[in-house]
Parts: sequence; C-alpha cells; structure tokens
Amino acid sequence: MIYPWQTNDWQRLQQLRAHWPHALLLHGEAGIGKFRFAQHLAQGLLCETPAPNGEPCGTCAACRWFAQGNHPDYRVVLPEILAGLAIGGDGAADMPAEKADGEEGKKTRQPSKEVKIEQVRALLDFCTLGSHRGGARVVVVYPAEALNVAAANALLKTLEEPPAGVVFLMVSARIDRLLPTIVSRCRQWPMSVPNPADAQRWLAAQGVDDAAALLAEAGGAPLAALALASDEHRALRDFTLAQLASGPNCDAFACGENLQKVPVPVVLGWLQRWLYDVLAQHTAGRPRYFPGAAKALARCAQAADPAALAGYIRTVTRQRAVENHPLNARLVFEELFIAYRGIFAA
Ligand SMILES: [Zn+2]
Repeated sequence: MIYPWQTNDWQRLQQLRAHWPHALLLHGEAGIGKFRFAQHLAQGLLCETPAPNGEPCGTCAACRWFAQGNHPDYRVVLPEILAGLAIGGDGAADMPAEKADGEEGKKTRQPSKEVKIEQVRALLDFCTLGSHRGGARVVVVYPAEALNVAAANALLKTLEEPPAGVVFLMVSARIDRLLPTIVSRCRQWPMSVPNPADAQRWLAAQGVDDAAALLAEAGGAPLAALALASDEHRALRDFTLAQLASGPNCDAFACGENLQKVPVPVVLGWLQRWLYDVLAQHTAGRPRYFPGAAKALARCAQAADPAALAGYIRTVTRQRAVENHPLNARLVFEELFIAYRGIFAA
C-alpha cells in the first residue's frame, strides 16, 4: 500500500506506463514514504494481473512472491545498515545514526552505511540474466545517495546501456549527493510532501496525540513525525529543549550527565533544529520546528549575541562532521552546552 498523500503521484506516474523510463529517480524529503512507494510501484510493474491504474492485484503468483520477498525478477539494493527493510519495512526513518553493538561485543564491525561495489556487481549479474517470468525485471536502490563512488560508477555503465526489460527505481532524499551523471540518466520524479492537514489527520489515525507539534518538528514529514512519537529518547529531548530554552541558565553538566547514553548525532540534531529556530525567530519572527516554544525562542533570539550565535552554529556543524567517531559523549555534550551559554554573554 502507498500512503494516502501519494495517490496523486501514483496516478500521474501511470501516464508514463506506455513508455516506462528504464530508470526513475524518486526524490523528495526524508520521512515521506518514498521507499514504500517505490516498493509498491515495483510490485505493480511485476504483477501479472494489475488493475487499470497500475495497482498490483495482491493475489497473483508474482504478488505472492513479492510479498514474501522472493520474486526472482526483483532486487532491492540497500546498505547493510538498512538490511531489515528488505521485506516489509517502510523506510520510515532516516538512516539510523547509530548502530547497536553486535552480540559478539564492542569489536564487532558496524554495519555499512554505504552501498558497495560488490552489491552493484551482483546486480549487474541479475541484469544480464533473462526474466524468469517473461515480464519486467525491477531494481530498487535505496537510498541512492548511499552508493559509494565505485558503486555509483559501476552502476552508471548499466544506466548508460540499460538491459532490455530492466527498470531501475532509484530513491533519494539527497539528490545533491548523487553523481550528476547518475541523475542525468534517470527520469526525475519529485515526490509530494503532504499538506499539514492531511499529514496531521494521518498521524492522528496512527494514534499520535500531539500530531501538529511533532509534524512541525519533523519538518512536515509524517513518517519522521511518527518516528518521533515513539522515540525512546523523547523524555530526554524534552529535557534538552527545556535546558536550551533557559538560555544562559542552561545546566551544561546536567546535560552531560543525562544525555551521555544518547547517541551524539541525535543530540546534535535537536541542537541544530533549536538553533535554526532561534535564527528563524529572529529573522522571520516564526520558528519552523518548535512552534510550541515560540516564546522561549524569542527570548533566546533577543538575548543572544548575533556573532556568537553564528560562531556557535558553525561549531555545531563542525561537530556533525565527526559525530560518528567514538567520542566521549558526556564531554562532547558538556562542552557544547557550556559553549551554548556563551552565546548569551553580554
Ligand atoms: Zn498481482
């Protein structure tokens, strides 16, 4: 099934059916359901008795294989870290920022965030074989920005000389990170972001209470909002936002103490959204992510020294570049929150 806000995209895409492009690039914001859409589209292309609007029937042999994750003419290419999405996952979340340590202990290699050249080579083997069922063969690559350079270059050759009957569905939230040569070989398809009312209605139907606030925090992306609703760090996020709201009185050591078990990228994400909103409040008079904290944001925007704020934002951005390195989280947080207090110095 696709999400309700994707119906229009689905219908418009069916106009391509007569001349289906060999490579389609579905792109748009993270957290709007692009991966599920691509999977459903793949099933529709493989279905042996699809409805006139391209909907897969759900009952033919192809649809049954697809649901079980073993259709012989279908491949989904994911980085190792997203392997769990291969069957039935909905791609709701962004790429997980942190791994779980494997059972074998701390030395365990972390699952790769990249799509590697070996995966693309295996795909090329699949492309040179004929179709098992005599119909289309479909490849989903998600997220396309996870292709490392070698993998992207290997794939490029195939996109330049596409094998007959193979359809590539590339899915990306960051087409700015794709090789331009890859982008130019694909038919680009921007995916719709739902309007806030529809997204809130959908979130409410999923049992989310504070749909409006979470949707704002997720930048309007409903699946990202749904992930926030069940975020295990939610209480700590609220604690952190309260500390940030207190401006120069932010208790950096309490932050270090309480947040030390939270992955660094997660905390940096909260911090970045908060700072974005301090700026937005200052320049546009309206926050984007935390409209419920408008008053505190306005106080912070008023009290902060603009140059110090700009410098601090650069510091946080630099920290993001090394966020996946094994750092002492507690020290990182203490330093960051001490520096945060510094932006309010007279
Ligand atoms: Zn079917």
